[in-house]
Amino acid sequence: TYVRRFATTAVRAAAAESVNSYGVRVSKAQGVVDGLTGAIGNTPLIKLKKLSAQTGCNILGKAEFQNPGGSVKDRAALYVVKDAEERGLLKPGGTVVEGTAGNTGIGLAHVCRSRGYNLVIYMPNTQSQGKIDLLRLLGAEVYPVPAVAWENPENYNWQAKRHAERLLKEDPEHGAVWTNQFDNIANRRAHIETTGPEIWAQTDGKVDAFTCATGTGGTLAGTTRFLKDVSNGSVKCFLADPPGSVLYSYISSGGQLKERTGSSITEGIGQGRVTDNLKQDIADLDGALNIADEKSIEMVYRCLDEEGLYLGASSALNVVAAKEIAEKLGPDHTVVTILCDGAYRYADRLFSDKWLKSKNLRDAIPKHLEKYIVL
Ligand code: PMP
Repeated sequence: TYVRRFATTAVRAAAAESVNSYGVRVSKAQGVVDGLTGAIGNTPLIKLKKLSAQTGCNILGKAEFQNPGGSVKDRAALYVVKDAEERGLLKPGGTVVEGTAGNTGIGLAHVCRSRGYNLVIYMPNTQSQGKIDLLRLLGAEVYPVPAVAWENPENYNWQAKRHAERLLKEDPEHGAVWTNQFDNIANRRAHIETTGPEIWAQTDGKVDAFTCATGTGGTLAGTTRFLKDVSNGSVKCFLADPPGSVLYSYISSGGQLKERTGSSITEGIGQGRVTDNLKQDIADLDGALNIADEKSIEMVYRCLDEEGLYLGASSALNVVAAKEIAEKLGPDHTVVTILCDGAYRYADRLFSDKWLKSKNLRDAIPKHLEKYIVL
């Protein structure tokens, strides 16, 4: 009877929570999902307990590392593929081509395998062999090409575009598409339709502020759009920017684009232009924060030590931004951010004494956290 009572409660909970008024399932116990892509999204919203206690606020992190490909980019990968399907550009056996050095490629590899498409990835040849190996073992065809600027026609994104155009000419029946994550607003839509509604439902609409960093801008723009619209503008939304990105100065100067200067150890974020994904929402942001690498790396270690969270540097940067916003707002506010991915793919750098020293970040790790420098 004990087992039966437990089972009945679990079944009831799953059924009762299955769909909220935004059409989003927020229950973790979802029952059977339809293939791998059904397991994308509906991630937990984790209260960072120590940081919340220290600030007197609720600091909440969306656990995007729990997606099947291990990052927030699974959502965009699914949406750009679905968008190509809906526009009739892809049929089973067709090919997706994308320029990416990281999480988008991994997300696309999972989505493409699960839906029966080939995947071709172009990336700058400055990327680690580990990334190339992982994409290849997930079934992708990978082309590392010389790392040249966006303006150069040999940039990896333009090579990806031309590859898709070639394939489409050769084999129009199956189709081929360049998914173009930076300027394809199906990426932003993923967050308008999933990330934003999930956050709203998970907090019962009690969210005061949202912040995250941008690579393509899809996560920030889409989540901001939804939260602004659903709350009549009352949720304050902020960009969190690493050094070497132009968006912080673009927003704080009221719309002036400056040359890129500086660089950051954070991967997957920082941007040199206003992408199409950002265009429609950037003016609605309430401000921007510029977060130094010293703070981000310290937060990688703090999240591990204080929260038990093993996070990549972009997630840690987001947590620093959430903390700074909480401190500005004062106690009893709820600030939400994105935990983009875990530290697994970066551990050989983030926890290496030699690497920290080479980046002049060794002194950013407080004494009591040095025990985590194990590599
Ligand atoms: N963090 C990591 C680790 C990423 O790989 C990315 C995507 N490049 C982002 C954050 C930023 O997400 P978005 O592209 O939606 O701006």
